[in-house]
Amino acid sequence: MTTLGLDIGGTKLAGGVLTDTGELLDYQTQLVHPSHDPERILAQIQAMLGILLGDGRSEVTAIGVGCAGQIDAKSGTVLYSPNLGWRDVPLAARLAKMSKLPVLVDNDVKLAALGEHQFGAGRGIDDMLCVMIGTGIGGGLVLNGQLYDGAGGFAGEVGHTTVQWDGPVCSCGNRGCLEALAAGPAIERMVTDAIRHGRVSLVSELVGGHLDRVHASVLASAIKGGDVLAREVVGRAGYYLGVAMASWVNLLNPQRIILGGGVVRHLPQLLELALQECRRRSLRAPLANLDVSLAHFGRESGVVGAAWFAHEAVRRKVKAKAA
Ligand SMILES: [Zn+2]
Repeated sequence: MTTLGLDIGGTKLAGGVLTDTGELLDYQTQLVHPSHDPERILAQIQAMLGILLGDGRSEVTAIGVGCAGQIDAKSGTVLYSPNLGWRDVPLAARLAKMSKLPVLVDNDVKLAALGEHQFGAGRGIDDMLCVMIGTGIGGGLVLNGQLYDGAGGFAGEVGHTTVQWDGPVCSCGNRGCLEALAAGPAIERMVTDAIRHGRVSLVSELVGGHLDRVHASVLASAIKGGDVLAREVVGRAGYYLGVAMASWVNLLNPQRIILGGGVVRHLPQLLELALQECRRRSLRAPLANLDVSLAHFGRESGVVGAAWFAHEAVRRKVKAKAA
């Protein structure tokens, strides 16, 4: 049985076909239309489905979709996606009509966690937390070997853990969320603010004075070149991540925390810094069970998880029918 996975983010649309042994076929990505108009993006998805479901792909049995934001998984509706500016978009219904296949939708990072659990850094781990740090910070929980939804399906919003009660305003409206202190835009802003206030840094040279081009990859080069400011700012982000992680460790007693996403891929030193602070603050007993690792998958984790989410739904349905 093969299933198709789609990952819809604020900047990128990705898709691919997954076999039941976890082999990802025909993986492809494109930039989403900058207007974020749902109709335009649905047209882009339709074109991508045309390619992925084209010749010889008639065996695809279902489509899984990961989308950034708050999702009502029962109806497959995007309730609110700050990255896309979408409210109440009936994504599953529209895509089912388009493809004539069953379509299941859930939060992108929850599904990435499912992909890591099944085929990646979480294989064989019953209690794990997967945290993706990029433009935002999202999380997915696997507890007792199952993806954990919470009462309404919104569990795992680790990016909105308060780590500084009077800190900067977050996209959610609260102050001092982890996302407002350690996600890509927060780190970039801390660096550019310091430079604008007169700090000398290799970063300005690396972007040729265009501070709007500062990105995690630039900070990585700056750190390699011995830049003090870049190291300081990344260190601070790692510190806040570690503060939040200690709360998650004490609350959940996970066996593994998996960290991934663009910021972590470019700045793997975040993991070490965060772990240091997490160790300092966590209770000793739950800490003894913990290990922290980098995500196995890169950008394709969302597609793998989304496709596997659809695979599991089909399998459950077949099983229920047989019973
Ligand atoms: Zn927040």
